[in-house]
Amino acid sequence: THFGFTDVDEEEKEKKVHHVFANVAKKYDLMNDAMSMGVHRLWKDYYVGGLQIPYNAKILDMAGGTGDIAFRLLRHSPTAKVTVSDINQPMLDINPSRLKWICANAEQMPFESNTYDLFTMSFGIRNCTHPQKVIAEAFRILKPGGQLAILEFSQVNAALKPIYDAYSFNVIPVLGEILASDRQSYQYLVESIRKFPNQDEFARIIREEGFERVTYENMTFGVCSIHKGTKP
Ligand code: SAM
Repeated sequence: THFGFTDVDEEEKEKKVHHVFANVAKKYDLMNDAMSMGVHRLWKDYYVGGLQIPYNAKILDMAGGTGDIAFRLLRHSPTAKVTVSDINQPMLDINPSRLKWICANAEQMPFESNTYDLFTMSFGIRNCTHPQKVIAEAFRILKPGGQLAILEFSQVNAALKPIYDAYSFNVIPVLGEILASDRQSYQYLVESIRKFPNQDEFARIIREEGFERVTYENMTFGVCSIHKGTKP
């Protein structure tokens, strides 16, 4: 594949990701605050705040987890109809509410083509075995003129890399151990960030799947980035 995984690795990855998020579901929100020192809230606010959401928009928030993005979408646009989807039922069970929750794989979405005005996915695509399939699916389910907006960890600025590496390889697994009794899951998390394509490669993949006006914006020196594109 584009991402250097062999078939064996692919099966491994799927199992691992499932294990990671089923395991951490209950501690997920706490861990996000701890690992990012609360900054993930600002990233998410900025991400959702920057979206142009039409009146009565139909939105799909994929890999929506405990609903961090979906709740922000509703606050930002009260007329929106938001569907949250995630491959792990335990993640969806954390916050039952008036949102529509659907357990599904982003690589093969059980949604009709040309249906949504907006596709959001925050910190989820890195966990998918075939990120390009997810982009192709997002393209399919979006209406013509619909927007793709993906928030994901990215490649950090070279000057900051030594500090960032030291923090993520040393501090994050220890936090996982202390707060969630699960060092390995958080070790996986750190590694998955390193394996994900950088900003330009990811933008190229999005273009390859047919999106136009593809742009990205770095946050916190590239710790994460927002990629956007429009379905023609
Ligand atoms: N979007 C939420 C947020 O920003 O807080 C949750 C992000 S969480 C780091 C990643 C989520 O991706 C998990 O809930 C996991 O179950 C989900 N996930 C992993 N692989 C997936 C796939 N193939 N299809 C759909 N969801 C997936």
